[in-house]
Amino acid sequence: MREWLQDPATRSRLRGSLYAGALGDALGAKTEFDSIDRIREIAGPAGITGLIPAYGGLGRITDDTQMTLFTLEGLIRAHAAARREQGTFAIAEPVEQSLQLAYQRWLHTQGVSWERARGPENTSPEPDGWLITNRELFSRRAPGLTCFGELEAYGKTGVRAGMAKPVNNSKGCGGIMRAAPVALWSDDLAEVFRLGAESAALTHGHPSGYLSSGAFAVIVHELLRGKPLLDALATARAELEKYPGHEEQSVALDQALALSKDGAPTPEKLETLGQGNVGETALSMSVYVALTTTDPNVALLASVNHSGDSDSTGSVCGNLVGAMYGEEELETSWLVELELSEVIGQLADDALAEFGGNAPGDDRWYARYPAH
Ligand SMILES: [Mg+2]
Repeated sequence: MREWLQDPATRSRLRGSLYAGALGDALGAKTEFDSIDRIREIAGPAGITGLIPAYGGLGRITDDTQMTLFTLEGLIRAHAAARREQGTFAIAEPVEQSLQLAYQRWLHTQGVSWERARGPENTSPEPDGWLITNRELFSRRAPGLTCFGELEAYGKTGVRAGMAKPVNNSKGCGGIMRAAPVALWSDDLAEVFRLGAESAALTHGHPSGYLSSGAFAVIVHELLRGKPLLDALATARAELEKYPGHEEQSVALDQALALSKDGAPTPEKLETLGQGNVGETALSMSVYVALTTTDPNVALLASVNHSGDSDSTGSVCGNLVGAMYGEEELETSWLVELELSEVIGQLADDALAEFGGNAPGDDRWYARYPAH
């Protein structure tokens, strides 16, 4: 029994992590890759200070949040399947396969027919489970080309990639931006790191594209358990260093730590770390902002006001600060506008039920979260 998952503080942190990730995504949605000068033209001299319309309204999320929800759904389904099979993970499909199929369902929401998205070995005539019944997910929000292309390729070949079989040499941030829920998978930090990295390696084959994701999952795990950010970082660093090719990510985290000694964040300081469009800087920039702020809403704004990949740094930083401060500290005037907010909250609660040992073992639950 994983008792910490039944603690009300854990619920606040998990919901906070998912909500703040979605808020950061929404705050940065309009200005992905706009320069900071352009952002100041659009939003005023102070840059982004609140939600601005994007994709036809306020509070609209992008692919980062969509895919994060499918990550969490894939994890719940893998866990529910193993539970149903008497807790024997050995006889269930690996969790990586469950994540792959969850991302294939996301691909379908992006306009790819189910026949082309589902993969050659999947014979289900329609995508199943509760998450995909939420039609708000069926919207293209500038999906990352690497994620899209590699998932389309899986739809054709059914060949699943991983760290041992890199699919390409991409270190784009499309792996880390969706990885926060992997934090829940296990209490074994080595396993959280491994699955965080493998989840990204389904589509991103460069070490910085997947090790960033492993480190991120460990940091979020530790934050969900109430550990201080600096301790969580040290724990993640120790896991990271066990993997070949970790140096680029390790150096990026060192730079974030060093810069954090220099006071409050500014766009100009943040940009010295990079653009956030690759795994290692999406993580280092997000960590830097989380280290230099004491309010999650201030952090969310700081994480999107720069010339790089604003929605992804907003999303990754949001996952961190939401876990640090909890749901109650998030700006309510933003939350009321947030797209998919009921789905996000419901999925978080379902995850706590499944991983915390309170999930029903009835047919209704297994139809909501069917195997794979
Ligand atoms: Mg995006």
